[in-house]
Amino acid sequence: MGGTTNTMKTDDNAGTTVKQRNRIALLTMLYRGDPATKQDIARQINLSLPTVTENLNALEEQGLVIRAELQESTGGRKPQTFTFNSQHFLAIGVAMRSTELVVQAIDLHGNTIMRRRRQIPFHNEASYYRRVGTLVEEFAAEVEKKGSHVLGVAIAISGTVSVNGPELSVASDAEWADRNLPLATIAQVTQQRCILVRHDEAEAMAELWHDPTIDDAAYISVGPSVNSAVIVDGTLHRRRQPSNAGTIGHMTLVRDGLMCSCGNRGCVNAYCSLPMLPEEGESLPGFFSVLEQGEVNHRHRLNEWFDNLAQAIANMRSVIPMDIIVGGQAAHYLDDDDIATLYSRVNAIEHNDPSAPPAFRMRRSLNIDEQDVIGAALVLVREYLDHPYRICQ
Ligand SMILES: [Zn+2]
Repeated sequence: MGGTTNTMKTDDNAGTTVKQRNRIALLTMLYRGDPATKQDIARQINLSLPTVTENLNALEEQGLVIRAELQESTGGRKPQTFTFNSQHFLAIGVAMRSTELVVQAIDLHGNTIMRRRRQIPFHNEASYYRRVGTLVEEFAAEVEKKGSHVLGVAIAISGTVSVNGPELSVASDAEWADRNLPLATIAQVTQQRCILVRHDEAEAMAELWHDPTIDDAAYISVGPSVNSAVIVDGTLHRRRQPSNAGTIGHMTLVRDGLMCSCGNRGCVNAYCSLPMLPEEGESLPGFFSVLEQGEVNHRHRLNEWFDNLAQAIANMRSVIPMDIIVGGQAAHYLDDDDIATLYSRVNAIEHNDPSAPPAFRMRRSLNIDEQDVIGAALVLVREYLDHPYRICQ
């Protein structure tokens, strides 16, 4: 998967020594490519054989390079090949869901190496967080027993979060009730570095990882509420203040419009979140199954919903002209025709000439299983790969 196209950052050479630069060049080559012999490496990165040997020895000692399977050779001695050890470090992604705890360990090529699901329902109590901390610590111990090191623990969270000292207030969008998420409690038990990643940012990170051609794009997560994460110049923009600010859900779409759960009127959430689709007493799967049977009223509701979402997307695109990825729960329900409909409506609002080449791309999210857990861990992996000089002293 993403491994062959994702890279280490190599353009920031300030303050590095020749030795560090050589090691980064060597690691980058092995990270991106197939196992290589000393001769291959020397040729490709233009270093002398003794320099390659010296650096390989040091990196092997650090655990970042390992010896690969011996190549088939026509007679004579088989040359030894070396490869990047993508499991030297693993990042742990966590999601605390209402019914279960999900934990995954992701390697430096973005592959899932270990996963665990435990039927522990979320409880906003210290005992729950201590239990999460203990389970994550047991998981981390297993990772280390396999010879890998833990980069850190990234917890994917939904809802609105505000930082208040070591405690974080999380307001679930479903209930709009405050719940305190004592990150410090989890971090203390696990003894690992813990970070929080908003679920929309985590999901966007996974999109970016698997599609490094993304340049400027907004990932719009449509579910119980509408959230967005922005990718600029191929880099996920992470909000410093994990609050409502910088996300699309509470942008005003209709002045003095429908009441939103935040207390204001006319927010995007009040028009474009998925619960706006079904009629009273109807479930979301129920809505889509009736729609499929050709019910006119349901088609009308969906059309109106498309118009509202298209307007919200056009508003976002008027700030930064970016591509759009539609994700979240909506990605389960919308098919390619629906995305095409939405796309043409955004174009109609932007008054684009239909005969002109498309001004932007729009697609559905990859909708990977546990995308938020994987994406949260990938935030740590990306951070590590972007700062390789730290590891090449
Ligand atoms: Zn609102």
